[in-house]
Amino acid sequence: MNFHKLEMARTIEPLYVAISLDIDPDANSAVKGRHDALSSPIEHGEIRVAACQKGLQKIFELLGKYDIDATLFYEARTAQMLVAEGMDLPKLSERHEVACHSLKHEDFLGKVSGIPMDEKCIEKTISEAKYILEKIFKRDTKGFRAPYTRISRAVVKVLERLEFLYDSSETVTFGNGWAGNPYPLEAFDSGLLELALPSFNDAKGKKKSSYLWAIFEGRRISSEYIDTVLQARDVASGGLFVFSIHPWHLYVDCRGNEFSNTQVGKNLENLESIFSRLKQMRSIRILRQDKYMEDWLKKQIKLNKSIPNNSNF
Ligand SMILES: [Zn+2]
Repeated sequence: MNFHKLEMARTIEPLYVAISLDIDPDANSAVKGRHDALSSPIEHGEIRVAACQKGLQKIFELLGKYDIDATLFYEARTAQMLVAEGMDLPKLSERHEVACHSLKHEDFLGKVSGIPMDEKCIEKTISEAKYILEKIFKRDTKGFRAPYTRISRAVVKVLERLEFLYDSSETVTFGNGWAGNPYPLEAFDSGLLELALPSFNDAKGKKKSSYLWAIFEGRRISSEYIDTVLQARDVASGGLFVFSIHPWHLYVDCRGNEFSNTQVGKNLENLESIFSRLKQMRSIRILRQDKYMEDWLKKQIKLNKSIPNNSNF
């Protein structure tokens, strides 16, 4: 295949969209003086997953209704608590990717806790999380998203050693030379591949992330996200647009206060409208992050064969 034909083949590729969930305790927050997270308000010293459970149940229903395969970043402790509550997580997660979101939502870098974890301690934590998840779900976990989406060289080195296929913690501004493609974490002296979360500048120049929390806190509406996907589609064929959702956020706010029934209704309506619009859009394909990564790696092998010294990385 010559270069021109290759470019043609690329331009007709869709924009890929991944729906990812960070499945962690309700309104969790890092705490000064300890590695793990607590539910807000932290003064109560509690971990709660009741809102997470309700939200996750609803999201599973919607994903089923719209025939969407998602990527589930499970905090291992939360998965254990939900199983203890009687949720059949392996069955509910069957069609989805199971990925890792740490053990107890550790503040690896110590930004809030004030006590950064060393590489050995990080490795113990993530390998225990991986072990628990693989025991519950009886399959490999290939993807990782760090609590608070904060990674360091130590975290990345641990992920490499534990043979993760990709990390999905960084946030990168769409455009400016990045169109949703995976890239190696060279900044951390690593070849581990990153499937970054996109951020955008809205019409007013305000930064917008692909986490849907702003919808649930009543600060944005679903059509703003749909417009963003439409813009991305025009400039990023073949790239991946990762959405991210905290299941608990459908029912409680960041401070742990319960939403009114009206607000919960609105949240569900907004989320459903995003799923339904995405499914109807032309040149958009929704898929799991691991599937995107596997297909992308296959494509790279092909490209390397046709174009020596290609500079896609
Ligand atoms: Zn989290």
